[in-house]
Amino acid sequence: MRISKEHAIYIMDKANKAVAKAKSGDRVVFETCDCFHDSIKVESDTISAIDFDHVNPATGPLYVEDAKVGDVLRVDILRIDVASQGAIVAAPGMGRIIDRVKNEETAICKIIDGYADFKGIKLPLNKMIGVIGTAPAGEGIPTGSPHDHGGNLDCAMIKEGVSLYLPVNVEGALLAIGDLHAVMGDGEIIGAGLEIAGEVEVRVTVIKDFKYKLPLIETEDKWITLGSRKTMEEASDLAISNMVDIILDKTDLTENQAGMLLSMVGSLRVCQIVDPNMTMRMELEKKYLE
Ligand code: CA
Ligand code: CA
Repeated sequence: MRISKEHAIYIMDKANKAVAKAKSGDRVVFETCDCFHDSIKVESDTISAIDFDHVNPATGPLYVEDAKVGDVLRVDILRIDVASQGAIVAAPGMGRIIDRVKNEETAICKIIDGYADFKGIKLPLNKMIGVIGTAPAGEGIPTGSPHDHGGNLDCAMIKEGVSLYLPVNVEGALLAIGDLHAVMGDGEIIGAGLEIAGEVEVRVTVIKDFKYKLPLIETEDKWITLGSRKTMEEASDLAISNMVDIILDKTDLTENQAGMLLSMVGSLRVCQIVDPNMTMRMELEKKYLE
């Protein structure tokens, strides 16, 4: 099953009409525009020229049969393919080096043999998904914002080979995906990664009675909890607390000892500090929980 990028949404909302239906266990390909709606093609295209009603499109939503309120949707990221070039922009007031950016600038980077060419510097690709989420229960949330439903998490660990667990807040879950980055470091400090069109192949599985807080990433060897809130401190507290729950469930440690373990071998990292909510993640290797 394949969902065309013509099916773009700008708000994750229970009122969105599903554009495709899958069964639990199905593989689905989401074709995605870049976050500028594919409107920046050459370096003379700067960000002020784009239509801000059409930024951060997410493809979907996908209705997953048998996904009921309170279930969890596991999204296995099987494959991310990106286009032959991406764009990154700087603009005054955007990102976190605000007073150092005095004019708008666009860089187009060609993708060649697993690298992005940035001004002659070869950057290894770390293809990742910026926007991925389900519909929230209450008010819709714009695709530019991250929160407990997922959304604009801009987390470099949402990449090929990992599983992302998302909440099912409305029947069918209504999964949407967009905003691929060919290259992005933790923080996304100028407010963009190497923004690029592409496609993502996922497997969606409905899980009943899942006990951990969401969103949550599972890799081959790590659990990664995510927190998205107004400040980095609040986002960190949430990611840490969600990881403590996992430790308490999987071990005989107390809360104090769970904190000690995280303090010694856990890593608190920044996903992004440029979106309407900050996103932090707590990483812990599974081997400490066996
Ligand atoms: Ca983003
Ligand atoms: Ca982006």
